[in-house]
Amino acid sequence: MNRIRLLPEHVANQIAAGEVVERPASVVKELVENSLDAQASAITVEIQAGGRGLIRVSDDGLGMSKDDALLCLERHATSKIQSADDLHAIRTMGFRGEALPSIASVCRMTLTTRERDGDPAGTQVIINGGKLLDVKAAGSPPGTSIEARGLFFNVPARRKFLRSEETEYGHIYHYLTVAALAHPQVAFSFLRDGKQVLQLPPSKDLRERLRALLGSDTELVPVEATSNETERPLRVWGFIGKPGVSRATRENQYMFVNRRPIENRGLNYALVEGYHTALMKGRFPVCCLFLEIDPAEVDVNIHPAKREVKFHQEPEVRRFVAESVRETLMAYHAPAPAPMRVETRPEPPPELPTFTPLTGTPLMAWPKPKTAEISIPVQPVPECEPAPFPQHEAPPETAGPSPLLKVPLRLVGVIGKLYVVFESDRGMVLLDQHAAHERILFEQMIKRMQRGNAPSQRLLLPETIEVSMRDTQFLRELMPTLNRLGVGLSEFGERTFLLDALPPFVKAREPRRFVLALIDQLRAAGQGVNAVRLGEDVIAKTVCRHAVKANDALAGAELENLINDLRNCDMPYTCPHGRPTILEMNYRELEKKFGRMQ
Ligand code: ADP
Ligand code: MG
Repeated sequence: MNRIRLLPEHVANQIAAGEVVERPASVVKELVENSLDAQASAITVEIQAGGRGLIRVSDDGLGMSKDDALLCLERHATSKIQSADDLHAIRTMGFRGEALPSIASVCRMTLTTRERDGDPAGTQVIINGGKLLDVKAAGSPPGTSIEARGLFFNVPARRKFLRSEETEYGHIYHYLTVAALAHPQVAFSFLRDGKQVLQLPPSKDLRERLRALLGSDTELVPVEATSNETERPLRVWGFIGKPGVSRATRENQYMFVNRRPIENRGLNYALVEGYHTALMKGRFPVCCLFLEIDPAEVDVNIHPAKREVKFHQEPEVRRFVAESVRETLMAYHAPAPAPMRVETRPEPPPELPTFTPLTGTPLMAWPKPKTAEISIPVQPVPECEPAPFPQHEAPPETAGPSPLLKVPLRLVGVIGKLYVVFESDRGMVLLDQHAAHERILFEQMIKRMQRGNAPSQRLLLPETIEVSMRDTQFLRELMPTLNRLGVGLSEFGERTFLLDALPPFVKAREPRRFVLALIDQLRAAGQGVNAVRLGEDVIAKTVCRHAVKANDALAGAELENLINDLRNCDMPYTCPHGRPTILEMNYRELEKKFGRMQ
């Protein structure tokens, strides 16, 4: 008896819909991608009830002829590829010819379209749960408008799994943000239950679009790098958060490959790796990064929604992105101009009122800490000035403000025996003396290691370490690196190594564990990791113990050295654990807080 039969078309479409249409946001994504592929310059998205009531995407793109409007609802009908060869060089968002029939099979769809440069009569197609109900001529502006009502009305099991309106709306909003970043020159408009929630006019570039989306206060630095190592060209560009800028989630982490928003664990890892000590544990970078890569070098076809991509040369791509991010963060501080001096503020002219409390009662202990023996003169705070308040010029629109450690700073004093207060032309600057010192010690240690003269301390009792067969070869290759780190390791037998020296900052109680942990770290880091960074965690912990603590009162000259040493660091804005070393509150923020801004 024959048991195999072909599935009816509408069942096949519904099965495909299971993969392509996960939720309302997937419908929006597919429809918007089609609009973008059709060269739209303005896209409007409207939803009702979180997308389960209505999703309508309208564009001013190329539009479709009547025949195409019917054909596009057939499975595997696409205008974007013609043969399997084209799969190796995808330049459009879509190509599977699956989205429209899948969506049409699980909702009530109305498609209205008119060719941009064709028949002035438009076409309207009405489909109900995959069944064609009507095709007619209909007036329409050039472009396409697709309406999907009652998503999953005929698949109750799927409809039940839709989340709250708020959640579904959130997913749609997020997707539209991502699409808008990838296409700054396209206008986007988003209406939720009749209310405009996003209105983005065409922007001239990514910076303008980012500003429109995230607000002008997000502190970003531009990234631009091309690879001269790989034989095929590779480019990464966009913006990343300044050192010290991070978020608790990946929400503001936007990554694209050839303008397609993607998820790729390797790239996430590369980003964090690039930030390295400029990022706190458990925090995520802010970024909007575009990787441009030969389409033949990337496979976008591994996921039905094309969210995940695979690189043919994954390690190379990863290393390139990590290095580009790292270099951008370092360049943010480098190229150092003429050495900058910390100006200690001159004594105030005698006519300045000294520290006059406005109310007649003494101000609380600011800036004089309770038990402080601060050996630097503390600048008295002048009396509150009457208006007019001095105007502080906003930095020019295009170039961001100069990095904080590039502007002259005048020492004001120390508060809480920890925070050093400076004044700059832009406002108030606070330095965490402990964090700053940690960063300085850390980089000194790293530099000694890079030069190969890391301090090393002989163990009183050398130890043998026996490792697995698999680790033997690995450790053998690692030995020169470990030696450079100050770890004295030599081969002692088949699978045995002799450990006779360690860097002085490692607690000698647990030498074996230290070495094994290093091996694990290296394994986890995988290919492409900078060998010197292996020991960084340990080093960071150690310098933390040695750095000046809160409560260590520093004198004026010491503070000057501290900030000058910090200026000479490669990554001065964070301590080795990624916490900020220096913060700024500019006059604009102060004026806001004091209610001086109209
Ligand atoms: P794919 O995008 O993978 O080709 P779809 O099912 O999403 O498959 O769309 C099928 C075809 O319908 C597209 O190849 C395109 O020719 C046409 N199409 C879909 N949406 C639009 C639109 N908004 N404007 C013009 N043509 C469209
Ligand atoms: Mg498509």
